[in-house]
Amino acid sequence: MTATKENRTLAILNAAVAGKYGVMAAIAYNIEHLTALVRAAEAKRSPLIIQLFPSTLKQVPLLAHAAAHAVKSATVPLSLHIDHAQNIDHIREIIRTLPVDSVMVDMSHYDEAENLEKTKVLTKECHERGIAVEAESGRIEGGEDGIADTGDLEALFTSPEDVDNFIAADIDILAPSIGNVHGDYGPTGPKEGQLHYGRLEAIDKQVNKRVLIALHGTNNFPAEVMQRCIRSGAVKLNVNKLLLEVGNEVLRKNAAGMPLVKLIDEQIRVIQEETERWMDICGSSGKA
Ligand SMILES: [Zn+2]
Repeated sequence: MTATKENRTLAILNAAVAGKYGVMAAIAYNIEHLTALVRAAEAKRSPLIIQLFPSTLKQVPLLAHAAAHAVKSATVPLSLHIDHAQNIDHIREIIRTLPVDSVMVDMSHYDEAENLEKTKVLTKECHERGIAVEAESGRIEGGEDGIADTGDLEALFTSPEDVDNFIAADIDILAPSIGNVHGDYGPTGPKEGQLHYGRLEAIDKQVNKRVLIALHGTNNFPAEVMQRCIRSGAVKLNVNKLLLEVGNEVLRKNAAGMPLVKLIDEQIRVIQEETERWMDICGSSGKA
């Protein structure tokens, strides 16, 4: 880990490793989401990583600046992370122009050798600016369209060799593939046996604090699944729909009848409440 010692994302995650709790890295798509997340962190005295997708940087360019302002003005440890940055030119623009603390340099759409090579080069460029880097090893399956069968997935799981290779590429945070998927698992969460906790534990043991472990694909997680992942070594917990769906539900149910200002208030309120509940579940409440 060679990114600056001052790095906010790494400070938050290192404290969580030492304290044996998890910290959520929560996606925001708009200012209501950002407001709810920051209020929850303040109310619960919890650290929190705010995540924006590269597409959001283009769709709502001011949001990154609002998030960076929140990071600076909050009375609890917050940081700003860019999730799944897959375009090399865009990554270079992001680190040159935006006050981000960390970036997921996601080259997992290239074959493994090229993934590693590109990750290494971009990691160096990020580190020169004090920005920490997350990378994905193996291949976390899915978009919205569900789960490949286990036969297909086996080859995509993170292997011990992948772990060594990414550590050698000098990244700070590793997002392993352990059966987790992007998109929905179904209403009751991952199927029995779908998440390989043993593999996560083995990776945690292998990395031995040289990098931090991020868990992607937490939609529909029950509390006990999240807690088991934390016990197995995951410290950065990427959450999206897990927190935001309650706000979408408010929109769906009330968009036709509720005045706009009330609709905004109501979304913020329910997302804050849900975020606070998950901060308790992850054990980050009161740790700021
Ligand atoms: Zn992800």
